[in-house]
Amino acid sequence: MVYSYSLKTHKREELIDITDYVQESIKKSNLIEGVVVVFIPHTTAAVTINENADPSVRKDITTFLSEKIPQSGHFSHIEGNADSHIKSSLIGPSLTLIVEEGRLLLGTWQGIYFCEFDGPRSRTFLVKTIKG
Ligand code: ZN
Repeated sequence: MVYSYSLKTHKREELIDITDYVQESIKKSNLIEGVVVVFIPHTTAAVTINENADPSVRKDITTFLSEKIPQSGHFSHIEGNADSHIKSSLIGPSLTLIVEEGRLLLGTWQGIYFCEFDGPRSRTFLVKTIKG
């Protein structure tokens, strides 16, 4: 099954916890053992896993990337969001995760984050559940 989720982002750059949505797709598909693929169908957004306890980690990630890849950098792309495209490719468009006993096998401090790099926008992400 493929599940599609809609998301509204509120800042130009932010990381939004989508772990519960991914877990929900596992439950909806009755997946007990297998994998899930999380895919972001956008060229200025991405998905990653990182710490779910201290929100300053999320802030540090966007701050670090913006310092290294400033929006005002010298780029060929004329839309003014070349930095967003580069950040999207660096972080990447997908994750593959293991499911056991109907739960994501994540570490205690891990959360799944939708990475917005050119918001605020209406966004989508896809979750594919695979038995195996
Ligand atoms: Zn662009």
